[in-house]
Amino acid sequence: MVRTHTCGELRLSNVGQTVTLAGWVQRTRDKGSVLWIDLRDRYGITQLLLEEGKTETSLLEKARQAGREFVLQVTGEVIERLSKNDKIPTGEIEISVKKIDILNPAKLPPFTIEDDTDGGDDLRMKYRYLDLRRNIVREKLQLRHKMAQQTRAYLDAQQFIEVETPVLIKSTPEGARDFVVPSRMHAGEFYALPQSPQTFKQLLMVSGFDRYYQIVKCFRDEDLRADRQPEFTQIDCEMAFIEQEDILHTFEGLIRHLFKSVKGIELPAVPRMQYADAMKYYGSDKPDTRFDMRFTELKGEDRDLTSGKNFGVFDAASLVVAIVAKKCSDYTRKQLDELTEFVKRPQVGAKGLVYVQYKTDGSLKSSVDKFYDADALKTWAETCKAEPSDLILILAGETEATRKQMNELRLHVAEQLGLRDKSTFSALWVLDFPLLEWNDETQRYHAMHHPFTSPKKEDMHLLASDPSKVRANAYDMVLNGTEIGGGSIRIHNRDTQQMMFKQLGFTDEEAKKQFGFLMEAFEYGAPPHGGIAFGFDRLCSLFGGSDSIRDFIAFPKNNAGRDMMIDTPSTISEEQLKELSIQIRTK
Ligand code: ASP
Repeated sequence: MVRTHTCGELRLSNVGQTVTLAGWVQRTRDKGSVLWIDLRDRYGITQLLLEEGKTETSLLEKARQAGREFVLQVTGEVIERLSKNDKIPTGEIEISVKKIDILNPAKLPPFTIEDDTDGGDDLRMKYRYLDLRRNIVREKLQLRHKMAQQTRAYLDAQQFIEVETPVLIKSTPEGARDFVVPSRMHAGEFYALPQSPQTFKQLLMVSGFDRYYQIVKCFRDEDLRADRQPEFTQIDCEMAFIEQEDILHTFEGLIRHLFKSVKGIELPAVPRMQYADAMKYYGSDKPDTRFDMRFTELKGEDRDLTSGKNFGVFDAASLVVAIVAKKCSDYTRKQLDELTEFVKRPQVGAKGLVYVQYKTDGSLKSSVDKFYDADALKTWAETCKAEPSDLILILAGETEATRKQMNELRLHVAEQLGLRDKSTFSALWVLDFPLLEWNDETQRYHAMHHPFTSPKKEDMHLLASDPSKVRANAYDMVLNGTEIGGGSIRIHNRDTQQMMFKQLGFTDEEAKKQFGFLMEAFEYGAPPHGGIAFGFDRLCSLFGGSDSIRDFIAFPKNNAGRDMMIDTPSTISEEQLKELSIQIRTK
């Protein structure tokens, strides 16, 4: 037996036993007459003791050779420690060593294998297998494992069947860019890696599987943004003979089950919000609802409390919108300037910021005192439901852009006020997304979710006359201001699907070439169906209280889409290129 116990399990009750442990040298303390080694494995750390006079000299010599991260096998007696360490579960015992074998020496690692390591990002990515030895990194993957197990347990109990769908599929123009794989046997032809198993899961519904899921790798060749991975994992699901309500109910159940079983948190019923309200009151389709700070329109569709006072900025604006920062009326000039600088950053893009300080004594002071008297400011404050000691922040301009800017400001202020606590969780359903969105670049409508999403029946009549007004049976689940999942009720009728493709600018021929198989399947008795997919990496990172999805992926790519460890993407040999009938153009 290589080991009788792990490095995490011995206690006082084991004192007197002879045991064999194996693991890595975490650290050595050599006091001359006494030598301690911390031996580490996945389960914990156990202290080894070697003493001049008591331990054989040859053993001591061997132990002294064992540097950091050497792999040792050690046999000895469990004894009670003189000075106990209450920080680790094995802290009451140590092993009086009788035998040591160096199973493998180790080069000095390029960074310390500690929770607080001295290694920078790139170095840790290059030596990811060493990074994974660190407890805090391994724990993140253990959390992921648990999430996957609990997802399967829940869905299995709900009669879902896990089905694997192919990874070599067909390239389609809709959505993000595909990763493609050249076919050797069919020169000039390519497979594509799936951006999601969307059409396959719909076909499984046609096949009568009724409830499908898969924890599945998806691939999107998008321009890299921070914390995006070209390959990522979804919990992909589809159900037949259901309405939107069934989906919301089932997957709210999944999220609540995960919170309960993985984190011991009883998540309340998930509130719902219309997409249009999310945009109006939060300027975002994924509002962070851990805190309130809803927008109030001082000038908008319903009211105008700002025009006609010679303040050109407000007069020209289609929207004047405010948020209230509670208890911030005493913000200093410097703090207010910082907020103004923030909204003027090119990434936010506002021209300026107006504020009203609702002082504790009830007086109001604003950056637009020249134009608005106390009564006007008071009306604003009342409309915003502000109270003495609050700070009102106001942006103005074109409606859509101003909402987006205010969303940024809202999040920024909340961050400053500590309202975005990673251990607090607030989930939300956002419902009734628009079916289509106009793309200026291509001068045509694109499907907001995907082309298989069904329009709302009551909006169908607008499809020809006013396509942008058509709402879809589409929904997102949002957690702490991050979209964690999205899906829709699908079209299951050939004619509707064909009409949809037409709206999206496909000719009949193109539609047939790309999606003929799906439309044909709809003619063989397709049941009404719908589904959803959750971003599994992101979900894990939120559960783990982290901003980074990379930490929850065993072997992630860096922000430039490179795997620094295996060093890819990389070139391939002339021979391979030839076999694949690919010519690389050289400059
Ligand atoms: N396939 C969709 C996605 O990847 C999710 C769905 O509609 O079920 O976003």
